[in-house]
Amino acid sequence: MSAPRVAVVGAGYAGLTAAVELARAGCAVTVFEASRTLGGRARVVEKDGYRIDNGQHILIGAYTETLRMLRSLGVPPRQLLSRPFTLHVPGRLDLRAAELPAPFNLALGLLRSRELSWQDRFAAMRLMRHLKRRRYRFERDVPVADLLAETRQTRLLIELVWEPLCVAALNTPIAEASAQVFANVLRDSIGGRSADAEILIPRVDLTELLPFPATHFLSRNGHAVHTATPIKRITRAGEGFLLEGNPFGGEVFDHVVLATAPYHVSALLADFDEAALLRAQIDALPYEPITTVYLEYDDDIRLPEPMVGVADSVVQWLFDRGQLGGMPGMLAAVISARGPHTELSREEIGLRAHQAVERLFPRVTAPRWSTVITEKRATFACRPGLVRPRHVTPIRNLVLAGDYLDSPYPATIETAVRSGLIAARHVLRMSQAAQ
Ligand SMILES: Cc1cc2nc3c(=O)[nH]c(=O)nc-3n(C[C@H](O)[C@H](O)[C@H](O)COP(=O)(O)OP(=O)(O)OC[C@H]3O[C@@H](n4cnc5c(N)ncnc54)[C@H](O)[C@@H]3O)c2cc1C
Repeated sequence: MSAPRVAVVGAGYAGLTAAVELARAGCAVTVFEASRTLGGRARVVEKDGYRIDNGQHILIGAYTETLRMLRSLGVPPRQLLSRPFTLHVPGRLDLRAAELPAPFNLALGLLRSRELSWQDRFAAMRLMRHLKRRRYRFERDVPVADLLAETRQTRLLIELVWEPLCVAALNTPIAEASAQVFANVLRDSIGGRSADAEILIPRVDLTELLPFPATHFLSRNGHAVHTATPIKRITRAGEGFLLEGNPFGGEVFDHVVLATAPYHVSALLADFDEAALLRAQIDALPYEPITTVYLEYDDDIRLPEPMVGVADSVVQWLFDRGQLGGMPGMLAAVISARGPHTELSREEIGLRAHQAVERLFPRVTAPRWSTVITEKRATFACRPGLVRPRHVTPIRNLVLAGDYLDSPYPATIETAVRSGLIAARHVLRMSQAAQ
């Protein structure tokens, strides 16, 4: 029996995970990636001679499958800077979870945080107790803002803790974000072991983190990875599939893992009438942007922490790339989801980011270099009750992978990796059933 031939379309974290998993299980895998750069929405960008990411990313200790995949590919743990869960907003808040299991990690952290009043501390514990009593499950999903109101969170907690956490994790404003998905994130991070809540920040660019080791593994083991090879359409060929755009023309694949971003799926599946409903469901997904501003200052500009929160600004977080293995003096300012910045020009956003830095370093001069990268459809908007498509499609032997698919989690690297594993499992099951 010859090895099942599987085409993986898209070399983001989902597609590459699926490809590695299928290759390990004995399939003959070919990956097609439209871009010259691997990694999709988590990739390196070269600009004016600088190597930066398309967006500053963080991972957390609860990204179990991503961490497992990285370990299995031989990625050294030092590629991720690991910090205990910390919310440091200079001059406003210093909340560091204790290295204890929940609820003591947060409880002790709240107690130690001198900027918080007793009212704030009780309110935070009230929210966590409320979630725990309900086993982190809601009968009816509501916006996060409603959950915060129902559990009487203080203005300070909302401004400095819950809103920044929700927007960072779900990339959706609290007035629209799903309380159920937010609860799932809290359950598996600060509601779990202290290691689960650790913040992990890549010290290498996002293409080097997983995509390079994954493609090296594939190439070493005789599988093909074609970059700069956009697939234009997928069609049936007997029991298998032909991929228009494949430089090797008439190759027929037994299975396809379609691992593009959701907004690229429909065009590729235009030939399959049985997928009309699925296409409509995917086309209806709402999106949210993420903007990252990179600013290069003198070497002596060093943040008090590798990652700090920003209050009273359109900027939500500042990262010190110098402390993350990058150039000293290079900062990244992050603005997730829609908000007051959406109407601003790139120049104005760049200026606001510089002003956020100026508040920390009043004598700082203008950055030597800066750039603003906005990913308009960074992730789907994670709203209450959103029904996400499943990995298995009505098209026999064609499965989907990607961060937008059915999952208890928002669109993250971990969701993408898990979706790749699920897609691979479905392919293997279908292929065994056919034998
Ligand atoms: C700015 C930004 C910041 C983020 N921050 C975080 C964070 O801090 N933490 C976190 O966990 N997540 C974060 N995310 C989300 C995370 O990056 C995504 O969830 C994840 O990368 C999605 O991976 P994916 O494989 O599902 O899709 P993608 O990364 O979109 O991969 C799809 C791939 O398919 C390719 N493709 C498309 N069409 C074709 C075609 N026709 N033929 C061949 N190839 C094709 C694309 O080029 C792409 O490489 C962020 C996202 C952005 C944009």
